Amino acid sequence: MTVSLVTGAGSGIGAATARRLGDRGDRVVCVDIDGDRAAEVADGIEHALAFTADITDEAQCDAMVSMAVDRFGGMDAVVTCAGIETMGDSLEFDPAAFRRIVDVNLTGSFLTAQRTARVMKAQGEGGWIVLIGSINSQAALPGAAAYIASKGGVLMLGRALALDLAPHGIRVNVIGPGVIDTPMTSDSLADSARREMLMERTPLGRPGNPEEIAEVAAFLTSDASSFMTGAFVPVDGGWLTR
Ligand code: NAP
Repeated sequence: MTVSLVTGAGSGIGAATARRLGDRGDRVVCVDIDGDRAAEVADGIEHALAFTADITDEAQCDAMVSMAVDRFGGMDAVVTCAGIETMGDSLEFDPAAFRRIVDVNLTGSFLTAQRTARVMKAQGEGGWIVLIGSINSQAALPGAAAYIASKGGVLMLGRALALDLAPHGIRVNVIGPGVIDTPMTSDSLADSARREMLMERTPLGRPGNPEEIAEVAAFLTSDASSFMTGAFVPVDGGWLTR
């Protein structure tokens, strides 16, 4: 039985991914800084547990992995969806906010991957790690330097981990979502001028939904993607083709 861990599972892409992996029969550990929301998602999945953790905290990452192993007996698949975004002009941007964004989006992805990969290596049966990057891993937009820098880092983190973990049969890939309709984007999508700008840049002309990312995460955490590692997979309605 596959044991999967999803961070940011209390909302948006993480919640959809946890549900998708649960639907295929995985044991799913739903991790979020908001434990109540993670518990709500876990309650709707047949074999799932919720765990409250801030993935920037090493001890909390260790605890989430120990809990998964204790309760479900191992660790096979990880999808790192926990993330934050704060917009703001670079000239005025608060350095503390910059550090927090990099800490959650980049360092948190690293800690989650590192801690879970240690278990996968010890099991000796390989594993799957999927990092959620962004179209902003490759393309910048005005007013989001911290987020864009963090997501550029996630792309290269995924490639670096793919090299380091390939000898252990652990495959690491990065998904680059475009504009996806989640609580993270609700303000942008409710602002008609901003929505129009974002949709003009999206060839398919609509936001994606979280399930469209979850489907690709399910593929990348399965043998269907057996020759893929170090890949960047945009799921963006065509944004990066321009
Ligand atoms: P979301 O709905 O805001 O979900 C993110 C979840 O992660 C929230 O429950 C959030 O809790 C949680 N979280 C934040 N910091 C955390 C931490 N330190 N430890 C553990 N959990 C934490 O966002 P989403 O749209 O699903 O985004 C998921 C991922 O996809 C993010 O990495 C995001 O950057 C990426 N992405 C999203 C889009 C998009 O258009 N939506 C596009 C490209 C990439 P709080 O709500 O309490 O902060």
